[in-house]
Amino acid sequence: MIDDGILKRLDRVQGMGGSDDDLLDSIKASDALIERRLTLRLDSGKRVQVTCWRCQHSHLLGPCKGGLRFHPEVSEEEVRSLAFKMTLKTALLGLPLGGAKGGVPIDGSALSVHERERLCRAWTRAFISDIGPNKDIPAPDVGCGPEEMAWIRDEYEQLMGKSVPHVVTGKPSALGGLNLRDGATARGGKRVLDKLRDKLGLTQEEPTVIVQGFGKVGGQIASLLAKDGYRIIGVSDSSGSLRKPEGFNVDDLLAAKEQGKSFSGLDNELEAEGGEPDAILTDECDLLVPAALGEQIHQDNADDIKASVILELANDAVSADADEILVKRDIRLVPDILANAGGVLASYHEWLAGKAGHEVVVETAEKSLDDIIDRAADRAWHMHKRAEVSLQTACYALAVEHLQQVARCRGLA
Ligand code: NAD
Repeated sequence: MIDDGILKRLDRVQGMGGSDDDLLDSIKASDALIERRLTLRLDSGKRVQVTCWRCQHSHLLGPCKGGLRFHPEVSEEEVRSLAFKMTLKTALLGLPLGGAKGGVPIDGSALSVHERERLCRAWTRAFISDIGPNKDIPAPDVGCGPEEMAWIRDEYEQLMGKSVPHVVTGKPSALGGLNLRDGATARGGKRVLDKLRDKLGLTQEEPTVIVQGFGKVGGQIASLLAKDGYRIIGVSDSSGSLRKPEGFNVDDLLAAKEQGKSFSGLDNELEAEGGEPDAILTDECDLLVPAALGEQIHQDNADDIKASVILELANDAVSADADEILVKRDIRLVPDILANAGGVLASYHEWLAGKAGHEVVVETAEKSLDDIIDRAADRAWHMHKRAEVSLQTACYALAVEHLQQVARCRGLA
C-alpha cells in the first residue's frame, strides 16, 4: 500500500472536482513492484542474502526514472510511495518520464568500497531485465552516489555488450554525468523561491532562515540563500543544532562539514548556541528549510512552527496531518514535488544527452532547469489562487491533471 499521506493529498484533489475518479484510483496502484533476492559476498568471504525492491510506479508519461536507496530501514512500502511521488513530480514538470524507486535494505556506509561495487554489480544482474534507458533509469538516492551509478552502468554495458550511457543518471562527470555548480536540487529550490518570493511574503530586506539537515542539499541551499542576502540563523545535523541570531558565515559551516565535523560540540568554535538536533525547528524565522528526513514536521509540532514559509527540500518532510495545520495557521508550504524537483530535471538532461550521444552541456541544462521550474511555479501559484487551495494541493492537482490528459490521449481514460 502507498503512504496515507499521498492518499490524503489525492483526496483533496478529488475534493476540488473535475478529476477523473477512475484515473485517480488507477494511479494509486503501481505498474510493477519487482522483488529480487541477491547474494552479496563480503570481504570476509561470508555471503549474505538481500531481498530488494524496485517499484515502477507509472509508464504513462514515458520510461520510469528514480533513485536507488541503500538504507537498512528501506521498505517495500517506502519504495512504492517514493516511486509514486516521483510520478507526481515528473507530471508537474511535464517531463516525459514516470516515477520509480529502488531500495536495498543494507547500510551502504558500513560496506567497503569492494563490497559496494559487488553489491551494485549483483543488483544490476538481478534487475537486468527490468532496467534500461527506455524502460527504467536508476539514479543515486540515500546511501548511493556517482560511484555506484558508474558500476551499474559498467555492469549493464558488459551484460548487454554495447555502450548505454543513459541507463543511469547521476554518474561521475568523466562518464557523462551532469554536475551543476550549485547542486541541482538546491538550485531548483532557490529558483522557486526567487519566482515566488514576493508572493510568499518574503519581502524582508534580510529574511532569516533555519536549515534543518546540513548535508549536500542543506549546505548548498544555505550557501545560495546567504549569497542572495538571506541570513542563516539556525542549522542542524543529526548530531545537534546551532543558533546564531546575527547570522552564520556559511563558508565556515561548509568548511566544518568538509573536515568531517558534526555540529554537536562546534558551538564555541562557531560562536553559536548549541542544542539538540530538533531544537531549532520551532524557532522564530522567516523561512524554514527542512533538508534532512521525512516526517520532521508532524501533528505534534506543527502548531509550534513559527516560520512564515517552509521550503520542503526533503521528501515528505511535512506529514499530511501537519500540512492541514499549517494551512489553518497561514504558513506557506512550498511542497517537495515542486521544491526539490531540480534533481530530476538534472537527471532528465543527463539522460537526454546520453540518448542523443553528445556531451551534457551544463549551461544549457541550468537554463532549461530554471525555465521549467519557473513555469511550474507560476502554474502552481495560479492554480493556488484560482482554486483557493493550498500551494501543495495546487501542485498535486496540476500533476493529476497532466496524467489525466496523457491517459486520455492514450485512450486509457
Ligand atoms: P545527506 O545525507 O547529504 O544530508 C542529510 C543531512 O540531514 C545530514 O547532514 C544529516 O546529519 C542530517 N540529519 C539527519 N537526521 C537529522 C535530524 N533528525 N535533524 C537534523 N538533521 C538531520 O542527504 P541529501 O542528499 O542532502 O538529502 C537531504 C534530503 O533531501 C533527503 O530527504 C533527500 O531524500 C532529499 N532530496 C535530495 C535530493 C538530492 O539531490 N540529493 C533530491 C531530492 C530530494
